[in-house]
Amino acid sequence: MSDSKPLYVYRQKRNFQKTAEPYGKHPGPGEAPIFVVQKHQASTLHYDFRIEVDGVLKSWAIPKGPSLDPKDKRLAVPTEDHPFDYADFEGTIPEGEYGGGTVLIWDEGTYSLLPDKKGELIPVQEGLEKGHVTIFLHGKKLKGGFALKRFKTGKDEAWLLIKMADEEATTDRNPVRDEPLSGRSGKSLEQVAKEAATR
Ligand code: MN
Repeated sequence: MSDSKPLYVYRQKRNFQKTAEPYGKHPGPGEAPIFVVQKHQASTLHYDFRIEVDGVLKSWAIPKGPSLDPKDKRLAVPTEDHPFDYADFEGTIPEGEYGGGTVLIWDEGTYSLLPDKKGELIPVQEGLEKGHVTIFLHGKKLKGGFALKRFKTGKDEAWLLIKMADEEATTDRNPVRDEPLSGRSGKSLEQVAKEAATR
């Protein structure tokens, strides 16, 4: 989902008097682009997968979360662009506010572009427009190549996140099931929620 004014949709959906989520600033120049996966217990549990593109975080909600098994095709529903500093958000969003619930930083790191079949590096923005992006994640839980593929356009736009078959692909680890805690703070969703409540 893209909008002509960066972060317009994001800001419109939120009341910054009520939520501690960031209003949004831009990254410094020359740093490797980042990705973050935020585990979000809202009305339903999902994983928000975000990659930095042109100063904002392109975002998808993944109900089942990412898998390291190339056989798993994980539904990824695009959501509005989020500000770059949203990648630092771990905490609660007040009930009644958009996305109300608890968020933890499940995994994070940088990413690099992978060449396409012809060996060419397609800029991410161009890949997103074409509906096919391949990136290499340098995370703690997620490493290696991942493909994002759009399979439905229009109002019900939908993508798939698929682990590419490389050395990091495995069926031995299931991080969504076995590594539930924050990759940043080590906290569980319950701990994050509790600490926010006592603040
Ligand atoms: Mn979410």
